Amino acid sequence: MQDKEYLMIPGPTPVPPAVYAAMSRPVGGHRTDEFARLYMRIVEKLKKVFQTENDVFVLTNSGTGALETAVANTVSPGDKALALITGNFGERFAAIARAYGAELIELNFGYGNDVDLKAVEEKLNEHPDIKVVLATQNETSTGVCNDIAGIGALVARTPALLLVDGVSGVGAIEIKVDEWGVDILCTASQKAFMLPPGLAMVSVSEKAWQVVNGNRSPRFYFSLPACKKVYGKWNTPYTPSVTLFYGLEAALDMMLAEGLDNVYARHALLARATRAAVRALGLKLLAEDRCASNALTAVWGPEGVAADELRKIIKKQYGVAFAGGQGDVKGKIFRIAHMGFSDKMDVIIAISALEMALAQTGYPVQLGAGVKAAQEVFLGREQK
Ligand SMILES: *Cc1c(COP(=O)(O)O)cnc(C)c1O
Repeated sequence: MQDKEYLMIPGPTPVPPAVYAAMSRPVGGHRTDEFARLYMRIVEKLKKVFQTENDVFVLTNSGTGALETAVANTVSPGDKALALITGNFGERFAAIARAYGAELIELNFGYGNDVDLKAVEEKLNEHPDIKVVLATQNETSTGVCNDIAGIGALVARTPALLLVDGVSGVGAIEIKVDEWGVDILCTASQKAFMLPPGLAMVSVSEKAWQVVNGNRSPRFYFSLPACKKVYGKWNTPYTPSVTLFYGLEAALDMMLAEGLDNVYARHALLARATRAAVRALGLKLLAEDRCASNALTAVWGPEGVAADELRKIIKKQYGVAFAGGQGDVKGKIFRIAHMGFSDKMDVIIAISALEMALAQTGYPVQLGAGVKAAQEVFLGREQK
């Protein structure tokens, strides 16, 4: 059927009707008291999600723009940057630092693995002059969640700043910016925040400001000092995406009304059900349970069936969109997102479509086995 689509890719994610409704109002001016009050309210609400007292800015650019903002404002040419890489997005963060002239120290843990804290500690000891540490909270290319609290505790003992890519994690998986010592947290609108693409949110710590203000890299659109200059007046240096700001407040109101603990518990439940279903179908998960993401699940394509072929059937015949692999695992895995505006029946739809497509490719699937496993998780009857 035309127009009936189930969007289960890790961004953009489905947008709730209340958010679309908020964005349907006529656009207003951004140099107005009304906009200033809106921005102020949004920042108050974002601080709850980020668990921070730090400055929080809403930027009109995608998530990568937030990562570039973090780097452009803290890395000067020749500075040592320690990149903790667990997949495609860790590689991107490192590439941005390289573009700004950083002397990169890369710790690559490989696709499917999480950051090993021991290795981080060793590198920090070996190079006491590391200026920034780049980490990914939720590695979207592999469905691995990293221990930001653990990394933060190590970095806090050094002069280095901790820059965290939380683009697909924040809003789905708890983050405690202040307690964990995250100096710059970057996230974006189109993942767990349930909005269309176009906004990024970043927080900046006191420790970071000391570096930001004196940084020598060129910056203009991505200048944090430019944002800070008008922050007290709840203004933005350039024209913000006013419409997305309307939507952002509506999305934050939804998250806070549900309760952040409930939001995180819902994501954990959806991840558990998805993983149980995948296992019941005899397929292999990319991430171990220990470090598995609550925002999305990455699955190896079954033996003898191309993952992208399977995805094509699922999309074309059932209208369900999964994401493919990136980087090292391109063509080998598929990824099911269960983040943001996502609930139990979305998982059931995803697994049910997967079962039918598997059957169509000749894979020996027991129809209903995956769905049943997910249902049992939802009914609290899963076998431990
Ligand atoms: C989506 C994503 C990005 C990139 O965000 P864009 O909005 O596409 O620029 C960066 N990091 C992670 C972890 C992501 O999931």
